[in-house]
Amino acid sequence: MKILAINAGSSSLKFTLIELPEEKVLASGLFEKIGMAGSFYTIKYQGEKHVFEKELKDHSYAVDALMQGLIDLKIINSLDEIDGVGHRIVHGGQKFTESVILNDEVLEEISAYNELAPLHNPANIMGVKAFMKALPRVIQVGVFDTAFHTTMKEREFLYAVPYEWYQDLGVRKYGFHGTSHRFVNKEICEKLGRDDLKVISCHIGNGASITAIDGGKVVDTSMGFTPLAGLMMGTRSGDIDASLIPYVMNKLNLTCEEVVNDLNKKSGLLGISGVSSDSRDVEDAIKEGNERAILAQDMYAQRVANYIAMYNNLLGGADVITLTAGLGENSIMMREAIINKISSLGVKLDPSKNDFRGEFRCITTDDSKIPVWVVPTNEELMIALDTLNLSKK
Ligand code: ADP
Repeated sequence: MKILAINAGSSSLKFTLIELPEEKVLASGLFEKIGMAGSFYTIKYQGEKHVFEKELKDHSYAVDALMQGLIDLKIINSLDEIDGVGHRIVHGGQKFTESVILNDEVLEEISAYNELAPLHNPANIMGVKAFMKALPRVIQVGVFDTAFHTTMKEREFLYAVPYEWYQDLGVRKYGFHGTSHRFVNKEICEKLGRDDLKVISCHIGNGASITAIDGGKVVDTSMGFTPLAGLMMGTRSGDIDASLIPYVMNKLNLTCEEVVNDLNKKSGLLGISGVSSDSRDVEDAIKEGNERAILAQDMYAQRVANYIAMYNNLLGGADVITLTAGLGENSIMMREAIINKISSLGVKLDPSKNDFRGEFRCITTDDSKIPVWVVPTNEELMIALDTLNLSKK
C-alpha cells in the first residue's frame, strides 16, 4: 500500500510517500512559499532531488502539482495507487485521544481548537481540504500532536490557577510532539520486548520536550498550553516566570504579543549564545571558546537533566531513557553533557558507544542503573501506520 504522510503549514506542505508494510520511503518533498511570490517545490526520488518553480496560489495548487509530479516522475502510474493520506494535525484538544478518519464533520470539530493553535491548525485543515478535493475517494486520516498526551491526569495537566480558567477557557497543559514520543515508545518497547516499560522520552531538536510514559500511557510532559513551555529550545525560552512579561513590556515598550514572540523566536540557544539556534553553530563556537555558547549548551543540557530527574521520581524509577530528534540523534556533545548531569541517578555514559549519529543504539555502560538509548524518530512513518490501521477498520 502507498500512503502519503502530510505536514501542511500556512505557506508550506511537506510530504512523504511510504510503501507499507515494507516501511519504505518512495519519495518525499517540500512545497514552499505557497500563496506568495516565488513559490517552488522539490521532490526527492531515487536519490535525486527535482526542483520546480511554479506559482502555487494556495494549498490546492500545491496538491495538484504534487499529484502531477508523482505521475510525471513515474513514482506512481495513476492516482489510484495512493491508498490513504495521513495528516499531521497539531491540536486535537481534549477530544481527540487518537487518530481519526477525517470528514467534514470531524474537520468542523477540529476547527474548534484553532484558537489554541492559531499558527498551525487552520493550515493543517487547509491541507486536508486540498487533499479531499484532489483525492475524493481516498481515506484521509488526522494524527494529532496532542493525542498521546490525553492520558495525563488533572494533577499533571492542570496549572495552579483559578479552576474556572480550565473549565471555561480550556486553560491546561496539552503537550505536543506526541506522535514522536509515541513512535519512540513503540520502538523501544519492541526492541526490549516489553510493553510495560517506564520510559523517559526526550525529544530534543529545535523544538524540545520530555515525556514520562508508563506502560504506553503518558503521565506527564514538559510542553504545556502551547509548545513554549518546559525545556529551553532552539529559539524558545521554555519555562519562565510569567511576571517577567509585563515587566519587559513596560521597560522595552513592547506589546504582549511582541514579548511572547521574543520568547518563542529570540530565546533559547539563540538568545543565550547570541550565535545561533542551531546547535551545530553553537558547538563550533564552543570549540572557539565562546563563553556564551558554552553557557547556552550548559543551560540546555542542565534543563534536560533536571526534567529527567523529576520524571524519574514521578515514574517511581524509569526503566529506560530515550533520546531523539535533531540533537538527541546527532549531537554527540549534547548527549554527553546531559548524561554527565544525571550521574546521581546512576546513569553512566560509555563514551566509546556514543560516537555516531542517527542510529538506534544504547550509549550507556552495562552497569548503568538506567540505560539510555538513542532512538531515531519517524513521525511520518507513525502517521502512515495510523492511516493504514484506520483504513482496515
Ligand atoms: P525540528 O524541531 O525543527 O524538527 P530537528 O529535530 O530537525 O528540529 O532538530 C534540528 C536541530 O538538530 C538543529 O537545529 C541542530 O541544532 C541539531 N542538529 C542536527 N544535526 C546535528 C549535528 N550533527 N550535531 C549537532 N546538532 C545537530
